[in-house]
Amino acid sequence: MKNIVMLLGAPGSGKGTVAKILNTSFALAHISTGDLLREEIKNKTELGLKAEGLMSKGILVDDTTVTNMLKARIQQPDCDKGFVLDGFPRTLVQLNLLQQVLNDIPNCKLTVVQIDIAEDIIIKRISGRYSCSNCGKIYNEFWINPTQKGVCDDCGSTDFTKRKDDTVEVIKDRLSVYKQQTLPIIDYYKNLNLLHSIQGDLGKESILQWFKNNLV
Ligand code: AMP
Repeated sequence: MKNIVMLLGAPGSGKGTVAKILNTSFALAHISTGDLLREEIKNKTELGLKAEGLMSKGILVDDTTVTNMLKARIQQPDCDKGFVLDGFPRTLVQLNLLQQVLNDIPNCKLTVVQIDIAEDIIIKRISGRYSCSNCGKIYNEFWINPTQKGVCDDCGSTDFTKRKDDTVEVIKDRLSVYKQQTLPIIDYYKNLNLLHSIQGDLGKESILQWFKNNLV
């Protein structure tokens, strides 16, 4: 059985953190469409150049482009045991395209999990967020900084980076895009009685336990 976990939640709800836990503990590949797009930008590809302007304003990249990127990603061998979707689908069109993709994967089980979090916490989480450029570990200037100032706890790197779209102005736009375009996906699964919910402030052990109880 191949586990596919769809993480739904506002920007800053902690989808990336949960996905990393699932990657380490259940060998599920972490697929973040935002990370894939940032990689395209870094490599200055045609897609990256197209996406950069949209992402800096918090606007979504078009459904076909992102879905094609996802289709290519799930062909990679690290997805053999299953994968976690972080930031995809974000629109009902993407949900529809994803369902067609999943129909072609034999023996897979989809678990849809919403991460619940209050809006004031989101703003603080995102505006304070920065990460290690080397291993991707996420910190927050208000709450969680490296034990030794300027040195990553996990890999020792001294290079840190902040996302260009993690500013208060862009966060507000991202939240409004989320409410308009992504919340209908949550309603869709809620109506089907297929939506699970976890709190956005759960610690690592509780997250792990929840998935141990709920994945096959
Ligand atoms: P994220 O890293 O998930 O917060 O995504 C950062 C930005 O990448 C978003 O604000 C969008 O501009 C773009 N993006 C990421 N995933 C998607 C997606 N599934 N569909 C459209 N745009 C996306």
